[in-house]
Amino acid sequence: MWCPVCGDEFVASVTRCPDHGVALVVDRPTISHEPPHAAPYAQESPPVPESPPLPEPDEVVEYDLSAWTADQHDGVAAWLVAENVAYAWPEPGVLAVPRNRADDVEEALGYLASDSD
Ligand SMILES: [Zn+2]
Repeated sequence: MWCPVCGDEFVASVTRCPDHGVALVVDRPTISHEPPHAAPYAQESPPVPESPPLPEPDEVVEYDLSAWTADQHDGVAAWLVAENVAYAWPEPGVLAVPRNRADDVEEALGYLASDSD
């Protein structure tokens, strides 16, 4: 037996929905619940994309970020992953990125550095 208001199923001995006081029906009613996959935040934790590989060494520029904090390094890395920029830390605090993305990276480093205060 089914409640036509809330769509809950009850055993056959129940004739009224305890929540709604309406007579139950034999056939399952069509209740327009949102299907779970249509939830707006279904993709809460998308997989973290891998950073693409760096090009040849002569196509790479390095930035000395050794004065930056670990949090700032994490912020840079997160930005690089989000922008799909290849990067590496050839030495602690030294960031290597492809030369063809250097302009974007420098802009990002500029505002990430100014965030620190
Ligand atoms: Zn009900």
